[in-house]
Amino acid sequence: MGFDKTVAENALISCGRHCCLCHKFCGTKMELHHINQKKHGGDDSFDNCLPLCFDCHSDVMTYNPDHPKGKKYTFSELKRHRANWYDKVKFSEGTKVTKSNYLNLDMKTFERLNELLDSKSLMWFIKNNGFISGPFPDKIYTDVYKFILECDLPEFEFIDADLEGIKSELYDDFKLLDNLISKYTFTAGPNRQSIPREWEMKFPEKLENAILDFQRITPIISKNYESLIKLARRKLYSD
Ligand SMILES: [Zn+2]
Repeated sequence: MGFDKTVAENALISCGRHCCLCHKFCGTKMELHHINQKKHGGDDSFDNCLPLCFDCHSDVMTYNPDHPKGKKYTFSELKRHRANWYDKVKFSEGTKVTKSNYLNLDMKTFERLNELLDSKSLMWFIKNNGFISGPFPDKIYTDVYKFILECDLPEFEFIDADLEGIKSELYDDFKLLDNLISKYTFTAGPNRQSIPREWEMKFPEKLENAILDFQRITPIISKNYESLIKLARRKLYSD
């Protein structure tokens, strides 16, 4: 037996179908985790139910106490993450952030996001997938990294659950992009990076993989970025 219909529904409503740990919007790709496993005496109550995305669920489940790596989630920590997220969803009900103090905080977060992503034409570069068309300034790389670092700051967080959900997706996308840049690009002259030109002759397969990988991620980033901008403008700036 798993959680009954009422418990499951209440949990899904409370989290707005966002993962309680990474805050990604999951839609149907969502699982209800027993904080205390049933084999250890956990029950099917609302209090023991934690809505998670597939990734976070496997992360929470696969921690192996025999080979401790990283930091395990405690029950109370999981419940606090959940409580924070449920609160956030409650405040964001409807299509607009209603409490003006939250609105102001979210506007600040949105301005910061624009500063990080927009002003240096980073998003234009990503949209046009400049990574695969020759050397590009180091600044692109450092701007990508800067956004990732900033996302770890607690103050760089939307109170509004929908906005925070898309932002956390963007954060994941940027981490993937950052990996690709580290994997496929190297110093190419002063303050510039590039996929090595000699790969065309020496390692054509590697070059092809690099191009395919960049082509896969950049449209996703552009799409998520555009959705975030549109939603933020609608939620934060329209009456
Ligand atoms: Zn998650």
